[in-house]
Amino acid sequence: MVHFAAFPAVMALVAGHTLAAPLGDWYQAADSSVAAMFHKRYTPSPSDANFTSNYPTGWTTPTSDTLPKAWTDKLASIQMPNVSVATQNNGYPTYPNGESGADSTICSFTYECTTSDDLLNPPDGVLALTFDDGPTDYSEELYAFLSQNNASGKATHFMIGGNILGSPTVMQDALKAGGHIAVHTWSHPYMTTLTNEQVLGELGWTMQIISDLSGGRVPKFWRPPYGDVDNRVRAIAKGVFGLETVPWNQDSADWAIGTDAQYTNASVEASINQWLSGSKTPGLCMLEHELNANTVGVFENVYPNMVSNGWNVKTVADAWSLDWYQNAADDTATVTSMAIAGDAVAQSSTASSSSAVSSTSASSKTTSTAASVSASSTSAVTSTTASSAQSSANASSAAAVTSKTGAAGRVQVGAGWAVVLFGAVVGVLSI
Ligand SMILES: [Zn+2]
Repeated sequence: MVHFAAFPAVMALVAGHTLAAPLGDWYQAADSSVAAMFHKRYTPSPSDANFTSNYPTGWTTPTSDTLPKAWTDKLASIQMPNVSVATQNNGYPTYPNGESGADSTICSFTYECTTSDDLLNPPDGVLALTFDDGPTDYSEELYAFLSQNNASGKATHFMIGGNILGSPTVMQDALKAGGHIAVHTWSHPYMTTLTNEQVLGELGWTMQIISDLSGGRVPKFWRPPYGDVDNRVRAIAKGVFGLETVPWNQDSADWAIGTDAQYTNASVEASINQWLSGSKTPGLCMLEHELNANTVGVFENVYPNMVSNGWNVKTVADAWSLDWYQNAADDTATVTSMAIAGDAVAQSSTASSSSAVSSTSASSKTTSTAASVSASSTSAVTSTTASSAQSSANASSAAAVTSKTGAAGRVQVGAGWAVVLFGAVVGVLSI
């Protein structure tokens, strides 16, 4: 328990800002795990002059002092495989003691090892449409093309946190158009070369900024830059954050146009067209980018062939019949409270929000009404029964806000959270 006076920044934020999210209502039950992992805080607005000060520096691996305790606590609680941090050798991760990345214990995708959890082979006839590295200066052109072809809602955008930080409204444009937003790390590093805590920062902060700008939607999918992932990184992504790892089963090599003479727009389009007119077993999950005029142009030229060849073009989530986000079925569905990576939703809670609230377990699609949940509003409240109950707390507020003032004045997510009622601070429940 920490006296509230220790957090003057929270007082200032509560007094000075409304808590409305830019896109839809933001509600996470304060007693759900997500409230600690990715909770409602002062939601930064892209139009605020200090917008970027709410996040770590873009395009740099977030440092350990930016990591909320909830993330590091969760990391300490999960079972980690015996896989060392790798070093990079011409794009190939190398491991100590002569261990091979192809070994099933390590299972590096660079060495073409995949796990049964990896999402790379969609069902027959399905094309999981993906664009990496946005938002960029070329994203709006892509979004306009997708919109003209009624395909905005068929694309998954694996976005870089550092790019979102620089172009937050472009990410929101993808979302408003109906696109599916997913994680492509904060600074696009070789993830297997990072320490566990650095992996936390790369994934967690990208999830946080997407959540902040999307009305609280917590991403459910991530793609490792360069396809550089092993079982250690997979364990953190899934175990701490509940993220599904999405490699690919065909690399368009669109990213190499202009840097490797072997690849031209024509050659890349030719290989894509070959796949499009080829076998539909399994489906296609192709590596493509919203990186520059070449990559966007290639897609615009081949998209008609995706349609004419009879592919069922879908987002990654729809390709595997999964929800788009961990706490929402898609961009417009109600944001629900939920549990990340096996954490249980508390069995007893009180909600007095005007929002409709429902809880679902990340590992189960079943939802049932829990008698132990009471609502003091007319809203429907449902909750998934989970295998083990966690600590519970009353949520008699419209929002929960967490803040910590860093040495440089940066507002950071901390481990504690405060409850705000009708604009008045009524207490700090935990830290
Ligand atoms: Zn990338």
